[in-house]
Amino acid sequence: MQHDSKLPHVGTTIFSVMSALATQHQAINLSQGFPNFKSDQKLIDLVNQAMNSDYNQYAPMPGSLDLRLAISHKYQLLYNSDYHPEHEITITAGATQAIFTIISAFIRAQDEVIIFKPAYDCYQPAVELNGGICIEIPLYTPNYTIDWELVASNISPKTKMIMINTPHNPSGTVLTKGDMLQLEKLTKNTNIIVLSDEVYEHIIFDGLEHESACKFPDLKSRSFITASFGKTFHNTGWKIGYCCAPKSLMDEFRKVHQFNVFSVHHPTQKGLADYMQNPETYLKLGAFFQHKRDLFLSLIADTKFKFKPSQGSYFQVLNYSAISDEHDESFAKKLTIDYKLASIPLSVFYSNKQDDKVLRFCFAKTDDTLKKAADILCRISQEINY
Ligand code: GLN
Repeated sequence: MQHDSKLPHVGTTIFSVMSALATQHQAINLSQGFPNFKSDQKLIDLVNQAMNSDYNQYAPMPGSLDLRLAISHKYQLLYNSDYHPEHEITITAGATQAIFTIISAFIRAQDEVIIFKPAYDCYQPAVELNGGICIEIPLYTPNYTIDWELVASNISPKTKMIMINTPHNPSGTVLTKGDMLQLEKLTKNTNIIVLSDEVYEHIIFDGLEHESACKFPDLKSRSFITASFGKTFHNTGWKIGYCCAPKSLMDEFRKVHQFNVFSVHHPTQKGLADYMQNPETYLKLGAFFQHKRDLFLSLIADTKFKFKPSQGSYFQVLNYSAISDEHDESFAKKLTIDYKLASIPLSVFYSNKQDDKVLRFCFAKTDDTLKKAADILCRISQEINY
């Protein structure tokens, strides 16, 4: 039987490839972004309690109302922003499903979607599966800032959506208030939808503030915000997330969502709702991960790796151009196989496979793992020479 692939250029995601290589070679896995420590026992107990109670049948299609109320309360508390729990918040199977469903609900053949590269790898295939065209704006190492004039010159009557991500995976940079105001100005009086991927909203460092799209009234009126409990509560395997948007946008989203997943794991939603009653559960994350970033960076400060400290997310990018001129994909593989330390090469996030000699390391790991990884990086810096 013959078939035409709808995604002829897509292979297996780099996260699966590098994690499998790490397992095969028993390497420390700082590649795929997930914690190697447990979620809070209290949250696990709350989910268990929900399973032992009456929360084992379908949740309502948009998600458990308790959880939507807790999320609505969080937006009020943190950003002074109202999202109606009935109509403007939907619980999803992770942020990935939210992103895919948003794109499926709005993107038609030949619609243009502006994305910034490097970008998290699920954005582009979702656009292309729906017949859309990605207009790529490059972000350059080491600052990865957005050139808003370039964005303005790429907006056309066909522009249907702009996708942003702050804090940014893979670079660990954050968008400033100035960036958000530029985006607001550029999209004002247009029909452009903004997809603001904010899965790392609570993981932000050095006193910086998360500039959520919901803080800017005109932006909010055209934005979907996507979020992930996996990132926030250290349980990426639970695959629960959500999105928020004004009612008219969310109505369209739910038309697709109801036939895509209908609803997601009910007892987990109930457990999360109860757990979130205490805002400390998410407010403490910034300090928690800043300690890990600082530990990791202090241990490799004297190596030949060059870096700017991550501003947010749990990723740190390191430039190895003073150590080797090997292509980043083969260098990442060599580090995994020969040195037992796995990372993610950044070139895979660019369509032109631009190789800036930069690797991404996930520091959502125990301090002990970070120390072992830093020891290896010190050894690499000493042993590998041109
Ligand atoms: N978001 C995670 C990362 O960037 C991986 C998610 C996945 O494996 N699909 O590493």
